[in-house]
Amino acid sequence: MTTPVLAPAADAPGEAAAGTGPLADAQAQLAAAVRALGYETGLHALLARPRREMTVSIPLRRDDGSVEVLTGHRVQHNFSRGPAKGGLRFSPAVDLDEVRALAMWMTWKCALLDVPYGGAKGGITIDPRRYSREELERVTRRYTSEILPIIGPERDIPAPDIGTDEQTMAWMMDTYSVSVGYTVPGVVTGKPVSVGGSLGRSSATSRGVVHIALAALAHRGITPAGATAAVQGFGKVGAGAALFLAEAGVEVVAVSDQYGAVHRAGGLDVPALQQHVAATGSVVGFAGADPLPAERLLGLAVDLLVPAAVEGVLHAGNAAEVAASVVVEGANGPTTAAADEILAAHGVLVVPDILANAGGVIVSYFEWVQSDQAYWWSAAEVDARLEARMLAAWGKVLEVAAERGLSLREAATVTAVQRVADAHLTRGLYP
Ligand code: NAD
Repeated sequence: MTTPVLAPAADAPGEAAAGTGPLADAQAQLAAAVRALGYETGLHALLARPRREMTVSIPLRRDDGSVEVLTGHRVQHNFSRGPAKGGLRFSPAVDLDEVRALAMWMTWKCALLDVPYGGAKGGITIDPRRYSREELERVTRRYTSEILPIIGPERDIPAPDIGTDEQTMAWMMDTYSVSVGYTVPGVVTGKPVSVGGSLGRSSATSRGVVHIALAALAHRGITPAGATAAVQGFGKVGAGAALFLAEAGVEVVAVSDQYGAVHRAGGLDVPALQQHVAATGSVVGFAGADPLPAERLLGLAVDLLVPAAVEGVLHAGNAAEVAASVVVEGANGPTTAAADEILAAHGVLVVPDILANAGGVIVSYFEWVQSDQAYWWSAAEVDARLEARMLAAWGKVLEVAAERGLSLREAATVTAVQRVADAHLTRGLYP
């Protein structure tokens, strides 16, 4: 059994913020919130550093009999408000600093949406497209057994993220359950409905993105009918967001994935595009649209831009080209700190990830509650409760932004950080 390692991210708050990348952005956002709240250095340090980190080797027997050793991480940023919660990512870009940043954002997201969790994230450095389904099952099961001492329904509850899906969660749940000797549905969320998943979980992040996008457009006086949108990323979050935007009457004129982008003035037929992607693996080559150089998507003159792929895509080098009125962050960390300043100076309304893409963790919470009670809600009930929570958080963020004269990101982060700090201070420091 691998021993959990208590490993500090940095010797002092802000040290890890030097340089660029998601962790620097996350630390800069926390530092700004701490300044706004007037917290002292010790509390800042406590909030800046993960409570626990675990790095594991994952030996994999390939289908050809050879052995390859992969690396995986699980970072638990905070437990003050409840068990840790956060996705598991399979991507060649995964490294420990990225997982640390994503874990911190999960803490703020859970606090902002007032679900009773802290934040965590996991990742394996792997390109899942290069491995067979059987190999991915072995990787998932070995990773799960390595991190088993630190996960569980009362400790840390993984969910899908980039490169993983509900099948990955079913393998994790099975591995955990076999190990403890009984079925534990609540150890992961985002499971298939057949093994204790929640109706509405697979579409929850996208639905939440669209609830917030429509609210943000309305805030800018833009009605959905005739509004235009571009969506970067056509995976679990981006494809659903494009579909629900189109259903709301928004013309989704462009979408992209890691292979390229497509454009159609007047709006894409999103269900037809989804069928094309299911058949070919990419949006590229879709007959109902024209090809578009992928880098042009972010600068299209649309009302709404939804980055729903990876971190750092809006940066100092391209933020000035953004022509959208509203940016709604479907992805985690798509806007660097430098881009945030440029977008604000250009009058672009940016709705931050910890609010905009929180629909997934809200319905993960519903799934965990349903698993615990073994009592299942209807899809309509899930969707209605999701919408109510998303819009309540939107209202709260607008209120704090207006009261304190902050951007939406600053208001969201300040609200979340204050809730986490309050929980910590109320519990007290042990020993
Ligand atoms: P996914 O693996 O299902 O899809 C990712 C998509 O992004 C794919 O279409 C991929 O081709 C595309 N992509 C990758 N790099 C790209 C690039 N440089 N340019 C354009 N497209 C690119 O992953 P997902 O679950 O949809 O996650 C997307 C983002 O949303 C991530 O930041 C993730 O952390 C965040 N998120 C996901 C959930 C969830 O419930 N799945 C919840 C909250 C946040």
